[in-house]
Amino acid sequence: MRTVVPRVRGRSSRSDTDDSPRPGPYGRRPAEAPGPALRAVGLTRVYGQDESMVWAVDGVDLDVPAGQTLAVTGPSGCGKSTLLQLLGGLDRPTEGEVWLGGMRIDHLGERALARLRRRSVGFVFQAYHLMYELSAAQNVELPALLAGASPRAARRRAGELLQQVGLAGRARHLPSELSGGQRQRVAVARALANDPLVVLADEPTGNLDSAATHDILRLFDELRAAGQTLVMVTHDERVAAAADRVISMRDGTLADDTRLDGDGRGMRHGHDGGTGLSHDGGTGFSGTGLGALLRWED
Ligand code: ADP
Ligand code: MG
Repeated sequence: MRTVVPRVRGRSSRSDTDDSPRPGPYGRRPAEAPGPALRAVGLTRVYGQDESMVWAVDGVDLDVPAGQTLAVTGPSGCGKSTLLQLLGGLDRPTEGEVWLGGMRIDHLGERALARLRRRSVGFVFQAYHLMYELSAAQNVELPALLAGASPRAARRRAGELLQQVGLAGRARHLPSELSGGQRQRVAVARALANDPLVVLADEPTGNLDSAATHDILRLFDELRAAGQTLVMVTHDERVAAAADRVISMRDGTLADDTRLDGDGRGMRHGHDGGTGLSHDGGTGFSGTGLGALLRWED
């Protein structure tokens, strides 16, 4: 039986009335609360009933330290997207717990969960999921507006973010006027609009060619340098090799858990049972992972 150490509440517990300054997406954030950014304990999601029951996620224990870049791999149907949705509060577990920034989120009510997602989680999807009637800038403004920012603050924030993803000159363009890679960069900017505690990306490069994939990896590397916790599901070995850590799933369970060194080779193998014992808090691998991959290619 796993013991869960009491959590200290982290950034995500910030109340709606707390208007203390937020760090920029590329700025170092203040000292994180102790404990992982994300934690799953005995996480299980069962779909269907009786003979058609599917254990999409089956008893997953996982800690993601703040600042870590984690890639989730595994064959189609092994539960990667379900795991990501559970971690981000888009879906609820059948059993088990999800902790985000030191706060247990799986039993929150719908409204609290929606507010938490808006403020603390940035999602990036394979198919972008932009609003196609809105410009790039309006897409990025939207989450900030929904979280209560003034139109002016949202506009300023969107302008900064589009600049940071290299799309300042495309702010007024509709998604239909952008390439796939540019759309995904808008989606990454949108995911960052509320300075989320974690960014969760499901096959973010799945629709992209290799140049656009490289752009997204470069962006993720900048996020990592800024201390952003990032979990990405990917089929692309190149993308997975760029992470700090790769977990692979089989039939809803964690089959392997590997820390990568700068050359994309495993440093440690074997699933640690989610105890976090092999983790270094995401602090010991600067200059490795994504950065190393990008240097190979430059
Ligand atoms: P992956 O992202 O690794 O391809 P998913 O998490 O999408 O896998 O799916 C895991 C398993 O759960 C699959 O067997 C899939 O068919 C099943 N599944 C996913 N979503 C649903 C759903 N809404 N209803 C029923 N079964 C589902
Ligand atoms: Mg999937």
